[in-house]
Amino acid sequence: MSSRTSPALSKSRFLAGLQCPLRLWYQCYEPHLACEVSAAKQALFDTGHEVGRLATRLYPDGILIREDHFQHEAAVCSTGKLMNDPHVPAIFEAAFFNDNVRIRADIIERVDDGSWNLVEVKSSTSVKHVYLTDVAVQYRVLQDCGVTVNRAGILHINNHYVYDGHELNLESLFSFSDLTDQVTAMQAEIAGALKNLSEMLSAARAPSIKASRHCMRPYLCEFWDHCTRHTPEFWVLNLNGITQERLGELVAMDVQDIRDLPDSFPLTPLQNRIRTTVVHQREYISDKLQAELTDIIYPIHFLDFETAGSAIPRYADTRPYQSVPFQWSNHILDEDGTLQHHEYLCNQDKDPRQEFVASLLDSLGDGGTIFIYTTYEKGIIRQLAEYLPQYHDQLNETLERFKDLCDIIRRHYYHAKFYGSFSLKFVLPALLPDLSYDNLIIQEGNHASLEYLRMIDPATAPAEKKEIRKNLLNYCGHDTLAMVKIREELLKRFRI
Ligand code: SF4
Repeated sequence: MSSRTSPALSKSRFLAGLQCPLRLWYQCYEPHLACEVSAAKQALFDTGHEVGRLATRLYPDGILIREDHFQHEAAVCSTGKLMNDPHVPAIFEAAFFNDNVRIRADIIERVDDGSWNLVEVKSSTSVKHVYLTDVAVQYRVLQDCGVTVNRAGILHINNHYVYDGHELNLESLFSFSDLTDQVTAMQAEIAGALKNLSEMLSAARAPSIKASRHCMRPYLCEFWDHCTRHTPEFWVLNLNGITQERLGELVAMDVQDIRDLPDSFPLTPLQNRIRTTVVHQREYISDKLQAELTDIIYPIHFLDFETAGSAIPRYADTRPYQSVPFQWSNHILDEDGTLQHHEYLCNQDKDPRQEFVASLLDSLGDGGTIFIYTTYEKGIIRQLAEYLPQYHDQLNETLERFKDLCDIIRRHYYHAKFYGSFSLKFVLPALLPDLSYDNLIIQEGNHASLEYLRMIDPATAPAEKKEIRKNLLNYCGHDTLAMVKIREELLKRFRI
């Protein structure tokens, strides 16, 4: 078999290769197969950069290596010069290269004894396993370059920090987790993985790996669309809740299609329902569905919230990533079939909670069932009741009227085109294809949060703000109208 020279590995390529060697292969040799970076993913990158910049303020007089990733050699050179200057206490984006592996370390901090602390900045609130590997590979390259590492760890967001509304307290906003012992213990493993991935990249052919659950962990792979283009419509991965062990058994039997599952294959009751529905192409309707959908008090409300949570808190008395509600939509169905729509969307960069609650309670009135989709809204109501004592009792009383439409569907109905999911994004097009989300500019909650933050950004032009506002109102209103229509559609099953 012919072989080729392995391309240099960066830290992110190394981590991609650990998730799946084929992902690394594609990144190196066939990057055009990747799907475009979504707005939500781009926003995650942007948050990472913002948090990274903020963290450097904890190291006054630190110096940034300005050369970008395409100028790695020059960046290594600049790093070396700064390391030799004893007056430089810390270096940001320090560059190193050894044994065909190149890295940029977020922060290296000089220690008096000539060693360095290695600090990786993360915008998350805890240490995930993938971060250990991230720091461990950096640790290895630094050691191989002759740098003595004193401490190595993660500087991450502390989600217990409460912003006072004046000045950010960076010492409290960030928290350092020392991982020196763990990353030292991982060095043999890292060396072995680097060797294996290098060899894989020198091979003439791509490794043969099929898409499965590993494609989503720790991150959804950018080659997912490409790798799943030939998977069957009713793929076994869509058996809601299937374990890794069971999936492994199906791979060993070469079963990919739910219709090919052997009769003896163990399934949960829900998976069994999915299989039966798919095999017979006939919807599942429990004998309790009608009662669940009609056990209501008019007027019926169909309610949805949108929230935003930023890594760096914006308003007084909020924590990092706290979900702050900024929009609600309420469709109200009267007994005579009249449908009204009420909505609220905060327009400015201010804490929206008081206004949100006052307008919401006004719209919900004193009576009537309130349909929600999942229990997310309940959690937000509880949080608001704690924060706004003047509304505490009223908010808690509304909880008594809540009914979760998603839970009713999960327990009492299934359609083959749900593809194992009970998310509105699957349920709606399966039941009402004309009402799907395809024509909306905003199609999911994360995107709505990002667009909201863009709308209240003073730098956004007025015309664009207006457009974003329109898109947000369309999106949230669509979700609640979807609930009205789904309930109506399901009730048609019981008309004689
Ligand atoms: S989609 Fe899955 S199988 Fe394909 S490259 Fe990515 S992780 Fe590997």
